[in-house]
Amino acid sequence: MKFVIAGNGIAAITAARTIVAANPNADLEIYTDEPYPSYLRPRLIQFLAGALKQADLYLYPPDWYARRGITVHLETAVTELDAAARRIVLQNGKEASYDRLLLAVGGNPFQPPLEGMDQEGVFTLRTIDDALAIKGHADRCLAAGQRQAVVIGGGLLGLECANALASLGLELTVLEHGPWLLHKQIDEQGAAVLEKQLGQQGIRCLPNAAAQAILRDGDGVSAVELEDGRRVSGHLVLCSAGVRPDTDLARAAGLAVGRGVLVDTEMHTSAEHVYAAGDVTEYEGEAWCIIPAAIEQARVAAANMVTPGSEAYHGTVPSTTLKVVGVDLTSIGMISAEEDGFQELRKADPTKSMYQKLVLHDGRIVGAILMGAREMVPAVSRLIKEGTDVSRYAGRLLDEQFDLAEALQ
Ligand SMILES: Cc1cc2nc3c(=O)[nH]c(=O)nc-3n(C[C@H](O)[C@H](O)[C@H](O)COP(=O)(O)OP(=O)(O)OC[C@H]3O[C@@H](n4cnc5c(N)ncnc54)[C@H](O)[C@@H]3O)c2cc1C
Repeated sequence: MKFVIAGNGIAAITAARTIVAANPNADLEIYTDEPYPSYLRPRLIQFLAGALKQADLYLYPPDWYARRGITVHLETAVTELDAAARRIVLQNGKEASYDRLLLAVGGNPFQPPLEGMDQEGVFTLRTIDDALAIKGHADRCLAAGQRQAVVIGGGLLGLECANALASLGLELTVLEHGPWLLHKQIDEQGAAVLEKQLGQQGIRCLPNAAAQAILRDGDGVSAVELEDGRRVSGHLVLCSAGVRPDTDLARAAGLAVGRGVLVDTEMHTSAEHVYAAGDVTEYEGEAWCIIPAAIEQARVAAANMVTPGSEAYHGTVPSTTLKVVGVDLTSIGMISAEEDGFQELRKADPTKSMYQKLVLHDGRIVGAILMGAREMVPAVSRLIKEGTDVSRYAGRLLDEQFDLAEALQ
């Protein structure tokens, strides 16, 4: 049986590993448009900050694939899919056939329709090439004494990029369209604690700041203009406004597509023998675009590519961690009680950059914000995942003396 994977990110590699583990003699080909072997995108942040070399980004040494009988075709994008004929067309004009195909082509950074987006000095970060271009521009700015930089988007990625750029010596302002930073991951009280900490690190945060245009002067990019007329100076602008599943290939092939490529519980698309996993997908209305979802989906897709009907996917509890801003922040599942019947437990100490919040429903934890409480993350994650009834401990869950391990038993 011939397995083909379009894409070479974490979803593709997880699926490839699962396929060869189940079927060591599998005929498996990977096609990617990038010129690099598979790498971990979160490491791009440390690469940008100069804390990692390019060679440290790669997931495996070059011979890893060959030793498993996997052929990787770099710089060979899949440009067309003919699902009826079980055939793909490649950017070099050649064709390849498959018995089972996995679409793992990921997503693209959303480019907000701002005036001036398309000019030198304005970036998004998704690939090694993006990171190299940003580093090159940052070096030129610093050499010219132009220290101010702007990040548009106060989400996890925006903040981590801001921190990386600040560590190069740039002065950062983060513009957040919403009323507070990370509004998908934390509530207003948690954001206030985080903002204070970022301020101490020299990163200025402007909430309710809707960018409208990126301005230039004789030297290049000079400022971001906001809808309310304010101007924020910056000679480097990094736009971090979310990710959109890359649905072009699937859409052109006539597959069912919403925000992402629609998949069922087997990660099967609407086309026979075509599966999808990772940022490219939409499952039950959700396009998670995070690594835990990509890994879970890829394992299920690969298992079903080998043995149809063998595994099922039932969604991912979103869990994200801000790693490098000097604050341990993890946000899991539902972060605010949205209706009656939900209960919130909170504890805060802004002087220690500490904020803890648990959201409970029906005696079970359904979400958490854990800032400055790294030691609680594994237990709380498990309690959420396993749906453990914690009602008899509810009043004590955030007590310093309470050991969450007790509730796990
Ligand atoms: C800087 C950064 C930091 C991040 N940090 C985190 C984090 O801390 N935690 C977290 O959960 N998530 C994080 N993410 C998101 C995470 O990286 C993605 O969820 C994950 O990479 C998705 O994996 P994927 O395999 O679905 O897609 P991708 O990693 O996007 O891989 C898709 C691959 O397909 C290739 N491709 C695209 N089109 C074609 C085509 N037509 N033919 C062939 N190949 C094609 C692409 O070049 C790419 O190699 C981060 C993302 C970035 C950019």
